[in-house]
Amino acid sequence: MKINGVIVRVPAKVNLQLAVGPLGDDGYHEVTTVFQAISLYDEVSVRHGEAGEGVQLTISGPTSSGVPVDSSNLAVRAADLMISRYGLATDISIHLKKEIPVAGGMAGGSADAAGVLVGIDSLFELGLSRDELERIAAELGSDVPFSISGGIAIGTGRGDRITPALSRGSYHWVLALSGHGLSTPAVYKECDRLREGLTIARPQIGDAMMQALRAGDPKALGKALTNDLQPAACSLRPALRLVLDVGMEYGALGGIVSGSGPTVAFLVADEEKSLDLTVALSASGVVSGVVRASGPTHGARVIETL
Ligand code: ATP
Repeated sequence: MKINGVIVRVPAKVNLQLAVGPLGDDGYHEVTTVFQAISLYDEVSVRHGEAGEGVQLTISGPTSSGVPVDSSNLAVRAADLMISRYGLATDISIHLKKEIPVAGGMAGGSADAAGVLVGIDSLFELGLSRDELERIAAELGSDVPFSISGGIAIGTGRGDRITPALSRGSYHWVLALSGHGLSTPAVYKECDRLREGLTIARPQIGDAMMQALRAGDPKALGKALTNDLQPAACSLRPALRLVLDVGMEYGALGGIVSGSGPTVAFLVADEEKSLDLTVALSASGVVSGVVRASGPTHGARVIETL
């Protein structure tokens, strides 16, 4: 039976560790990172469009405001790439239902691009393997391959070369959201400014992080969370230091700016602690919203055919 469309669910990510190397001659930084996919999702529907209309994009959802609907949207770029790579019919209609914060350091745009790749693969019955999808994903952005794979994985290169990490257990997160996003390039630039004159080592994942994941030990993981971009994000947005302090004061096992921020992710011991911290952060007045999530969860996956 021919399908008219598919709906793909794609998770946000947190970086449990983000190690940033020196600025390279090509203007990029080598990074080594540990990603975890968490249960905060965008839904991407991909359908055959009306003849002659080309790629059409519409967006809804609580975090849709200000997201571009033109060809600069990563979802449209993903569709254009698939159309030219596989010679597909160009009339594709995409709808994004956004829940992932925009410019929040949680790979929202990357999630949508991954959703389109998986959606088009399924709609046109291309039969691409996960490896092939991840290779195409890397052409669109560093975080897109992980949005395809999900789970817990180590990213090297620009974060786009993904290897699944040995890990156990599941983790509870409380995410402290900010009203305004931070630009990833601006945070990297500030990181370079703060590091001026220092010798920066090649990025590596710490043993404590890998041991905590293998053991499935939230307490040890809380202590092992690190992010080399955190000083830069806090320098551009000093209020983040206050958010981190409040979270730790109210019982988080660890807290970290997620990626380039400004979302702050707190790891907590269990469901009850997650509720307590949600209440404390909401009452503190230092955050614009609080979301509870758990991880790891799956990567981009078709949840419905239309
Ligand atoms: P990362 O964690 O991968 O650095 P991020 O979560 O900080 O990314 P995004 O939500 O991906 O940031 O958005 C960054 C910018 O990309 C936005 O300000 C927006 O202008 C643009 N953008 C393009 N496509 C999308 C999309 N589908 N959803 C959200 N933003 C998009």
